[in-house]
Amino acid sequence: MTHKTVSFFTLGCKLNQAETDALRSAFRLRGWKVVPFKEESDVCIINSCTVTNQADRKTRSAIYQAVKASPQGKVVVVGCLPEVDPEQVSHIEGVDVILGNREKFKLFNYLDSVISHSESQIIHIHEDNPEEYPENIFITSTGNRNRAFIKIQEGCANYCTFCIIPYARGKPVSRSLQSTVEETKKLVHEHHYKEIVLTGINIGAYRDGDNDLLALIRALEAIPGLLRIRISSIEMNTLSNELIDHIAQSTIIAPHFHVSLQSGSNPLLKAMNRHYTREEFAEKVFNIRKKIPLISLGTDIITGFPGETDELFQETYEFLEMIRFSYLHIFRFSPKKGTPAAKMEHQIPDHEKIRRSRILHELDKKLRCQYASQFLEKKVRVLWESYHERGVKGFNEYYILTETDKNQASPNQMNDVEIVSAQGNILRGRVV
Ligand code: SF4
Repeated sequence: MTHKTVSFFTLGCKLNQAETDALRSAFRLRGWKVVPFKEESDVCIINSCTVTNQADRKTRSAIYQAVKASPQGKVVVVGCLPEVDPEQVSHIEGVDVILGNREKFKLFNYLDSVISHSESQIIHIHEDNPEEYPENIFITSTGNRNRAFIKIQEGCANYCTFCIIPYARGKPVSRSLQSTVEETKKLVHEHHYKEIVLTGINIGAYRDGDNDLLALIRALEAIPGLLRIRISSIEMNTLSNELIDHIAQSTIIAPHFHVSLQSGSNPLLKAMNRHYTREEFAEKVFNIRKKIPLISLGTDIITGFPGETDELFQETYEFLEMIRFSYLHIFRFSPKKGTPAAKMEHQIPDHEKIRRSRILHELDKKLRCQYASQFLEKKVRVLWESYHERGVKGFNEYYILTETDKNQASPNQMNDVEIVSAQGNILRGRVV
C-alpha cells in the first residue's frame, strides 16, 4: 500500500516549531510518509509567520515553492499570516486550504474533503472559542533534535505597539498542568528525551486554575528521568521572586533566561508600551545575579524604532554594555501593517537601521565571548547533541555550545564537564 506523502515548512518562533512537530507526529500516527520540503508530496503544509514584513515575504516565497514542487498536491497554509490577513493568502494561486492558529489543529477534519474534491478553496479562521485551549494533539517526537519543545501557553494581551502577535494569536490561554505533565512523561519515558523546552507566547502569564508557572515547573521536576527544563523566553515583569528563588536552588531548571528588553531608553520603552523602565529592568537583573551569579541572560533588541535618535540609540548601547547580557538577538524595526508603531512619526531610514544593527552585532560578539570566558576551569553539565569534525558537541545549562573529544561522550548523553578552553563563545572541556 503506497503511503500518502506530506511535507512541512515552518517559519518563525519556537512555538511554531513545536506546533509543526505536533502536526508531523499526527500525520505519522495516521500512516503518512513525511518527505522533505520541495520534494513532490500529496500535501504540503506551511506553518506561517507574520511578525515582520520580511516574514510575510518568506511565507509567500515558501508557498510559491510548494505550489511549484507539487503541482498535483494540496497546499495548506496555517497560522499567523492567515490569522491576520487571510485575503493575502487566498489570492495566491495554488493554495487549497487556509487555517488560523486554532483551526490548524483541526486540519484532518478538512483534509479528506479537499483531497477528494478540489474545486474550491477551504478557509477556516477565528472559528474556535478563544477562551479554550485545544488539548487534542500531544507531541510525540521532535525529529532528530535532542530536546523537545512543549507548548504550554498561547496568546498575549500586552499589546506592545510594534507587535502583531496579540492580533494573530489572541488572548492568553494556558494548557492544563495535567496534560503537560502527561506529555512530558511520554517524551521522557517513551522517547528518552532528557531536556524539554517550555514554549509559549507569554509563558510568564501561564495559569491553570491556581497553578502558575512555578507550580507547573515543580510538577515537571518530579518526573523521574527528566534531567533539564529550559524556559524558552519570558517577560521580565512576569519573573517573580519566588520563581527566581526556586530556579536558584534547582538542579533541573536551566539557569538561562531569554528576557526581551527591546530598548534601553525610557522614552522608547514608553512608545513601545513595554511595562517597565530601564531602571526597573536593571534592578531585576541585579536581583537575579545576586541569587544566580552565572545566570545566562539573553535578550531581544529592536533598532530603529520610530523616534530613536542617535542619543537614544547610544543610551541603549550603553545600557546593554552595563547589563552585560550573555547574547543579543537584534531586530531592525519593521513597520508591521496593523500595529500602532507602523503609523508613528519619525520613522528611521533603512540604511540607518542597518548601520545601528551592525554596531549591535559587534557588541553581541564581544558580550558572547566575555560571558563564555567566565567558565574557564569551571564545571558545567552538557547534553551532547551530535558528532562533528572536532568531536562531539552540545549545549550546557547556560546555553553555551560546548565540545569534547569523540571518545569522551555520545549524543543524547548528559555529562559533567570541566572547561579547559574557550574559542570565542564556544567552550571545550573534558568529561569528569
Ligand atoms: S509581550 Fe509584547 S512583544 Fe511579546 S508577544 Fe506580547 S505584545 Fe508581542
